[in-house]
Amino acid sequence: MRPNKDCTGCTLCHSRQNVVYPDGDPDSPVAFVGEAPGRKEDEIGKPFQGASGKVLDKLLEEEEVPRSSIFITNTVKCRPPQNRDPTEDEMAACLPCLEEELKDRRLIVTLGRTAARDLLHRQVHLAKDANMITKVTIRGKEIDLVVAYHPAASFYNPKVKESLRETIRITRAYLEGHGNVSSTGI
Ligand code: SF4
Repeated sequence: MRPNKDCTGCTLCHSRQNVVYPDGDPDSPVAFVGEAPGRKEDEIGKPFQGASGKVLDKLLEEEEVPRSSIFITNTVKCRPPQNRDPTEDEMAACLPCLEEELKDRRLIVTLGRTAARDLLHRQVHLAKDANMITKVTIRGKEIDLVVAYHPAASFYNPKVKESLRETIRITRAYLEGHGNVSSTGI
């Protein structure tokens, strides 16, 4: 199930240029979930295309994980005005589509606090929780989930960049079929 390009399921339909559909391998065992499309993504219609996307692409390349091997999406498929966080109502409107995208993955990586809150239904503290593996239930199925920083948070913070690098190493282990390789529990 994917939203129609004319979807009016929430108020974000009024400000978007394009519905931003997922990118990458639709059958990947790993899904990255960002918060929402930004300006560039809205223009192009693909997730993680702007400055955050460049950081993510560089880290993936350095860790030898092809971007094309991951499924990449957002909690909401339309850009919130002025890049504000999506509201709970907007995320709830887009959640059935997100759950459909995630229900058969082995690992979900949430990029940023908002994406983690959308799927875990609680606040996370990235300084403490980043890269710990927990479980989330999607359509009755338990799936491993790793909370991670949003790439934008790493622009001026080398510690965040290192944390994201570790996230990508965890991702690689799942892509290679090695499963749960890190500490558990948030
Ligand atoms: S964010 Fe989702 S529910 Fe809202 S208009 Fe876009 S596609 Fe539809």
